[in-house]
Amino acid sequence: MPTLDPDRLHLLPLGVGDAFSTRYYHTSFVLFAGSAVVLVDVPAPFGKMLREATEAAGVRLAVPDFTDVIVTHLHRDHCNGLEEFAYRRIVLEEAPPPRLHFLEEIIELLWYARLEPSVGDKTELGGTFDERMEEFFDLDGLDRGQDFATADPELVFETRITRHSQPCFGFRASYKGAVLSYSCDTEWGPKYVEWLAKGADLIVHEVGEEYPHTPLEKLAGLPEDVRRRMRLAHLPDALADRELPIPPLRQGELLTIGDKK
Ligand SMILES: [Zn+2]
Repeated sequence: MPTLDPDRLHLLPLGVGDAFSTRYYHTSFVLFAGSAVVLVDVPAPFGKMLREATEAAGVRLAVPDFTDVIVTHLHRDHCNGLEEFAYRRIVLEEAPPPRLHFLEEIIELLWYARLEPSVGDKTELGGTFDERMEEFFDLDGLDRGQDFATADPELVFETRITRHSQPCFGFRASYKGAVLSYSCDTEWGPKYVEWLAKGADLIVHEVGEEYPHTPLEKLAGLPEDVRRRMRLAHLPDALADRELPIPPLRQGELLTIGDKK
């Protein structure tokens, strides 16, 4: 049973595949930092993904344990488990709402296209749509490029809008001197990679076909100092089980970010 050091930043991938993967779950991961347990994107089948990854890593973790949830954008492979998460957390487990970090500009779509059809009939208090949404999540709607904090004030996120087919953000997460960067879904952007790489102990970068994703050849051409700190996510089937110039994350592989400070 591995121990999670509360003074360090840990990452547990739940899924590492792209939107059409037949080999892996859609890309999603958990960050552990002190009192914060942060879920980054919520694909389906969320419960199965969580059980398999936590069993593989030997970590005990259930839906009520998450303090913060991040929804980077509305493509289905990043949020089609959100209804399941909300229903289990609030209706079945009767746990308090976690903090939900998302782009404020997507709030109405998040409610009306994603949550309302599935859990809207479970709201008890009525009111405006965002008041109803607050029965499930403590809302933290972000402006573009806005930083945010989590349940552990020492775990902080800086964000950037990515070059994608809809509003989407990537981030740099810092905790006690350790830095993890995540590209999220993005077209190739050398300046963006520069921002992600600056001082990062680990850079998780997506890979895919051309726009709105980043071809492997572009990442393979990065300087060695960047590549050696990089792991891939969002893998298409064409890259599954291949020897890659940058290693992919693995589902259920618990990582510790950075050196002990
Ligand atoms: Zn996307």
